[in-house]
Amino acid sequence: MAAACIFCKIIKGEIPSMKLFESEKVFAFLDINPLSYGHALVIPKYHGAKLHDIPDDQLTEILPVAKKIAQAIGAGDYNILQNNGRIAHQVVDHVHFHMIPKPNEQEGLGIKWPQQ
Ligand code: AMP
Repeated sequence: MAAACIFCKIIKGEIPSMKLFESEKVFAFLDINPLSYGHALVIPKYHGAKLHDIPDDQLTEILPVAKKIAQAIGAGDYNILQNNGRIAHQVVDHVHFHMIPKPNEQEGLGIKWPQQ
């Protein structure tokens, strides 16, 4: 954990988030400035700015969680995106994977939230 890191603060509950998933190694929440409805961020709890700063064993759950979120909200088409460094458009220096649902021409966003 890094004291000044905004995503570490979200993990610790010091900054509120729309939490979607949490396990021992992974945290997932909705992006505060979504590119589309359902835009989620999946992050390792281990703090590191870039992908190569994170041990392999802290990354194994990331894609399965991103996949489950995409499936749970019914996102048919979506992007998984992960930026490293300013030139690559990284703004928050805690590794994060975006899951960005893409609108479908026939069905709009095509997102169906799980039944309550
Ligand atoms: P990146 O450009 O890959 O570093 O993306 C950082 C993402 O973090 C952006 O999409 C922001 O909207 C998102 N973000 C920043 N602060 C928060 C926050 N407090 N809660 C949720 N998402 C955030």
